[in-house]
Amino acid sequence: MTDNKMTEAKAKRPVLTTTAGSPWPNNQDSLTAGVRGSVLVQDYQLLEKLAHQNRERIPERTVHAKGWGARGKLHITHDIGRYTKAKVLKKGAVTPMLARFSTVAGELGAADAERDVRGFSLKFYTEEGNWDLVGNNTPIFFVRDGYKFPDFIHTQKRHPRTHLRSNTAMWDFWSLSPESLHQVTYLMGDRGLPTDPMHMNGYGSHTYSLWNEKGERYWVKFHFKTEQGVKFHTNEEAAEIIAGSRESFQEALFNTIESKKFPRWKFQIQIMPEKEAENLAFNPFDLTKVWYHADYPLIDVGYFELNHNVDDYFAEIEQAAFSPSNIVPGISWSPDKMLQARVFSYADAHRYRLGGNYEHIPVNQPRCPVHNYHRDGEMNTVGGNQLGGNVNAYYEPNSFNGAFEDKSAQEPPLRICGDAARYDHQGRGDDDYFQVRALFHVFDKGEKERLYNNTADAMKGVPDFIIERQLGHYAKVDKAYEQGVRAALKDKYNFGGKRNDL
Ligand code: NDP
Repeated sequence: MTDNKMTEAKAKRPVLTTTAGSPWPNNQDSLTAGVRGSVLVQDYQLLEKLAHQNRERIPERTVHAKGWGARGKLHITHDIGRYTKAKVLKKGAVTPMLARFSTVAGELGAADAERDVRGFSLKFYTEEGNWDLVGNNTPIFFVRDGYKFPDFIHTQKRHPRTHLRSNTAMWDFWSLSPESLHQVTYLMGDRGLPTDPMHMNGYGSHTYSLWNEKGERYWVKFHFKTEQGVKFHTNEEAAEIIAGSRESFQEALFNTIESKKFPRWKFQIQIMPEKEAENLAFNPFDLTKVWYHADYPLIDVGYFELNHNVDDYFAEIEQAAFSPSNIVPGISWSPDKMLQARVFSYADAHRYRLGGNYEHIPVNQPRCPVHNYHRDGEMNTVGGNQLGGNVNAYYEPNSFNGAFEDKSAQEPPLRICGDAARYDHQGRGDDDYFQVRALFHVFDKGEKERLYNNTADAMKGVPDFIIERQLGHYAKVDKAYEQGVRAALKDKYNFGGKRNDL
């Protein structure tokens, strides 16, 4: 480049400034006493630069730390107005959205192509506020009571002494918690290792509710079926991918959208009338269960498409705060115990990670007006404390036309009955097994073989007594399941003889 061209190019560049906006003359050389001399403490911009770098990282998510996301739009193509008054679900509605996919257990730097459940979080910026569906790529989960969630996550994280992941901890917990069997079977099957975010389904997983203009409530399950088809890797393929790149999901999602092959997911629901839940043979609010398609057929609602990569990963994905507490009129929760625990714990995780005013961060800001009486707090960046310039209406009730309750947003009353007690959450009889059996029978011969091998791979180094306990659960699902895993364990580690993996 000639000197003239360089001067011209520089003329178009913005001026470097301090964080307070003042032009800054030198971003290369410290202010020193003499050419070889010590740095002067008054070189405030040097101190500012180093101090800011020390604060670049925020706490990573305790779970779902490694994630990949993009923006897009939700399109409603079918009329489900008889179930819900939610404007976001009206036929013809198009709503901007953000999606974040993730692994559960790995830290921020973990490899993408690991066998793990994938988070499938969606934020819809509706005209009635943000609606977040914080689901997974599986329709079920490992536990059904929030009491067990922190312990379950401890088994997925590092051992206190070795600082390594512990197969023993995982299988000890799972074998003592047979409600996990359905999800463990799903995880060890082909869908436990998708090729990338585009080739997996998403599920709201929990039972939620819809309510309509007449005040009628329906229980609902949300499904998002990939239009790209489900694709998976074997353990061996994944090991090869990880050896070449730890970022295979990020690369795949970013490059696909960048090359304008926009991925789509079909949006479907299952519906159960409110009263029907009382007479069902199993608990429809149990997160370890699905509703069978034959009993509750999938109903088409629309689709979403991801068509825009974010411009800044930290600002728009790392700072994105999804919470099942974010619902809109016409959509609500259910008595699902895990959902109720998550309604608290997700919002609380964001208060810890991002601060009490985390919804002021642009990616989390609703696209509709926000008026409430929350005051102040750290990083309060939305002008006027949500009062809309009405400075006298900073408490409620007030006589100064402050924001007022909207009774039409009140969901219909929910009948609750029963004595307050700590009811044993563990399944009775066949309760923890019958749906696992149904899934086992969905798997073809090849997938069953892979299930046995993947399970045996994951049991490396686990003591006999824990493996035997888990095999006992498989036997209750289907003798062939138990025998298949036992044979794979013998093959890999000489299980039943002198073990070669201990
Ligand atoms: P169906 O027998 O009607 O259909 C089988 C379901 O299994 C389909 O949803 C299919 O998803 C899914 N599936 C296919 N291969 C796999 C796999 N390798 N791993 C996990 N899921 C797979 O389902 P039912 O409703 O009668 O339920 C039977 C079993 O299917 C359940 O116990 C549950 O484990 C599983 N399942 C059920 C779902 C539900 O919401 N009812 C959802 C997902 C799984 P797809 O159509 O996308 O290919």
